[in-house]
Amino acid sequence: MCTAITPASGGDAAVNVDAVLIDLDGVLYVGDAPVPGAVEALEWLLDEEIPFRCVTNTTRRSRQSVAARLRDLGFAIPEAWCFTPAMAAVRRLGEEGIAACHLIATGDVHRDFEEAGIRLAAGEAPYVAVGDAGDRWTYESMNRAFRLLVGGARLLALERDRYWRDTDGLALSAGPFVAALEYAAGVTAEVVGKPSPAFFRLALADLGVQAERAVMVGDDVATDIGGAKIAGLAAVLVRTGKFRPEALAASPVAPDRVLGSIADLPALLDRRT
Ligand SMILES: [Mg+2]
Repeated sequence: MCTAITPASGGDAAVNVDAVLIDLDGVLYVGDAPVPGAVEALEWLLDEEIPFRCVTNTTRRSRQSVAARLRDLGFAIPEAWCFTPAMAAVRRLGEEGIAACHLIATGDVHRDFEEAGIRLAAGEAPYVAVGDAGDRWTYESMNRAFRLLVGGARLLALERDRYWRDTDGLALSAGPFVAALEYAAGVTAEVVGKPSPAFFRLALADLGVQAERAVMVGDDVATDIGGAKIAGLAAVLVRTGKFRPEALAASPVAPDRVLGSIADLPALLDRRT
């Protein structure tokens, strides 16, 4: 199977792809509303037998909850096709033989750690893992993390996005809090979600597709587009979700294409053999 991304205007060579990686928040849905045409776009991929996986930087839900939410929104996407930063964090801790960490997150993301056998320690732990904790960020939670980091714990950022698009407007993501902890403790976080190339490789390995044979579709020019380009994928930016023209104009990386929304993906993926 082979599809081609055909440039709208000449100049760029067409990019042949065998598979698609898709961001969730801001691409398939915004708040509690599916992006118009997104359900149909995924159905088109299934009909055309173009394999895809979802790579989200969402850290407020476990993988199971991410899949359940997608079902509620009308997307028939198996849980096994969803890749979350918590999964990448668990894998990273496993590589180090780490059995405990201090997690700052919200929702049920803790389940992904517990089910992998990672003990969530309230105090001493070799790693401080930080996600988007929403209202659970307090002076106390920040200070506890700061003290652990000063004491030698390493900082693992599930993601470090600057912001995301909530139903009532842009909202702070984990990035500003990660930056604050780095600044205070004089450490540098290791990021396991997007834009980490290792995170993209998790989904690509599941697809059995090389990076240069895949395209990433996302609404964040830094983590989705920048990350995909670093990992060697083609990258398509959509003008939904957190998309802002100013962020695109200021970006050091350029997407291969910019679409109005994922509804335009079928027209872009012009099958060629
Ligand atoms: Mg997004």
